[in-house]
Amino acid sequence: MGQDVSEKTIIAERVSILDLVSPHVQLKKAGKYYKGLCPFHPDKNPSFIVNPDRNTFHCFGCGEGGDIYSFFMKFHNLPFPQALEELARRAGIQLRERHLRKDPKKEEAYKKGLALNESVCRFYHRTLLETPEAGVAREYLEKRGIGGETIRAFSLGCATAGWDRLLRSVQKKQGAMEVASALGLLIPRKEGNGSYDRFRNRLMFPIFNTMGQVLAFGGRSLGDQEPKYMNSPESFLYHKGSVLYGLHGAQQAIRERDAVIVVEGYFDLLALHQNGIQNAVAVLGTALTTGQIDILKRHTQNLVLVFDGDLAGRKASFRNLPDLLERNIPARVVYLPEDEDPDSFLNKQGKEALERLLEGAPSLLELFLEEKTQDIGKGDPVEKKVAALREVLPIIKKIPDRLSQGLRIKSLAEEIGIPELSVREELSNLNEPAKKARERVAQETTPQEAGKWPAEEKLICQILIQFPSLLPRFIEAGVLGSFRSASLGDTIRELAEHYRDGETLNLSEILPEEPSDPGLFRLLTRLSCREEFTKEQAVRALDDSVRRLKKRALKERMDGLNKKIQEADQSQHADLRTQLSLEMQRLLQEKKALLC
Ligand SMILES: [Zn+2]
Repeated sequence: MGQDVSEKTIIAERVSILDLVSPHVQLKKAGKYYKGLCPFHPDKNPSFIVNPDRNTFHCFGCGEGGDIYSFFMKFHNLPFPQALEELARRAGIQLRERHLRKDPKKEEAYKKGLALNESVCRFYHRTLLETPEAGVAREYLEKRGIGGETIRAFSLGCATAGWDRLLRSVQKKQGAMEVASALGLLIPRKEGNGSYDRFRNRLMFPIFNTMGQVLAFGGRSLGDQEPKYMNSPESFLYHKGSVLYGLHGAQQAIRERDAVIVVEGYFDLLALHQNGIQNAVAVLGTALTTGQIDILKRHTQNLVLVFDGDLAGRKASFRNLPDLLERNIPARVVYLPEDEDPDSFLNKQGKEALERLLEGAPSLLELFLEEKTQDIGKGDPVEKKVAALREVLPIIKKIPDRLSQGLRIKSLAEEIGIPELSVREELSNLNEPAKKARERVAQETTPQEAGKWPAEEKLICQILIQFPSLLPRFIEAGVLGSFRSASLGDTIRELAEHYRDGETLNLSEILPEEPSDPGLFRLLTRLSCREEFTKEQAVRALDDSVRRLKKRALKERMDGLNKKIQEADQSQHADLRTQLSLEMQRLLQEKKALLC
């Protein structure tokens, strides 16, 4: 264990939380801290605080917080071993191959999978660029207007016709067959032994994660082979609901423009990219999943969905509305003319026309409400009104802002001619279960936390994290033993153990890599990002706390002693009684000394 901690610590010393956060969050300096909009929740006022001295972050809006490792894991959706490995790479540290991993087998498989995908990606890419058989693919790309730069930027590739092109290349590497099969690149033959290539005669799109590692592939048929589009199956690397095509290359543009355009297909994305619209991603299925929304939310709150304007497209766009509202994302939507996708639209009408559409994109919620209520008039039969109301209310229920929800209800009631009160009643019936669940969660967390970590002890922890030079003074005061929270007491002991005079205190040194108590972990990082005292105030506050703890401990001892004295009186135990009285005298003197 000792070695792990030190390796983790060395990395934490070299990798600054600022360097990790600032590519993704615009940070402004605020005293010793940096402030920005939280990437983990819809944040209007900067509530995301980074403390570069302690290498920690905390969001006072949603409570997310931690050290470099937690930020990296959460932001990039990585398990700890991968985060450690990537951060070690950035720190220029060679991790020793060993026990750190929870499950070495899984770990090894993950690494091998990525390495194999990487080499397969290169193989397909080279095939596309260099081989005569890929002529069809090159012509096809040219026909669709995809140039060399885009081909390289997205590492596009080609799987040529034939059943064993990839197979033969993979066979040369030891152990690669198994991995390629596990990733679905090779398919076992139904009869006899051996396997064959999944992707044949297809244009290949490697699918990257935000770190630029290849997780899977998509392939578009180059002949009349069905299906037209085919993706790698789900695997230990690839979960299609939590990956967005193109995000890796779009991250920076998304942040710069503080908006992301969501399109449906590979070629839509490439066409946008090629026209200089780089803040775009493509979903790899039919609808945007909640996992994908959560990923995008970390980059921007502004989503513009691009859909086909036909009935199916409109319906598909509305399907995302509840999830978006729940996450407080005011998505906008562009419906392209029927039978057009961004690719064909760009080709026919050009970039400016599309940009105008994107800029003027109306709110998805607005469009939904309009569509559902537009043909309802005051004179319509009640049944029709009620039916429309039932469709619209579950959506209105999810509008996070109470005020705008109220206004919607009012105008809805007016528009369809139902008394506002009835609409509200119907809505509150819908609200019941969610309300109860929220209340339960609130009950489960807050008071329990309060009991677990007494305010006084939390304050002491906060001061000592901010001014570790006060640690020796505090330890000497000898009140640690009277802490009610054992975990906070242990934390301070550990802080003291790691503190070296004159050095800054890196919290990652004492934070466990996989916290057994995530609540404590959060608490500590939160405390490290709290408003600071001046040193003078801190000294005074700490001394006050020590005095109060001493008084508390003294009072407890005196209470216990009084009980014993009463018992001695009852049992007429004179000697004991005298001894106890003397003890009490001493405590009283101690108390007196404390009060001056
Ligand atoms: Zn937050």
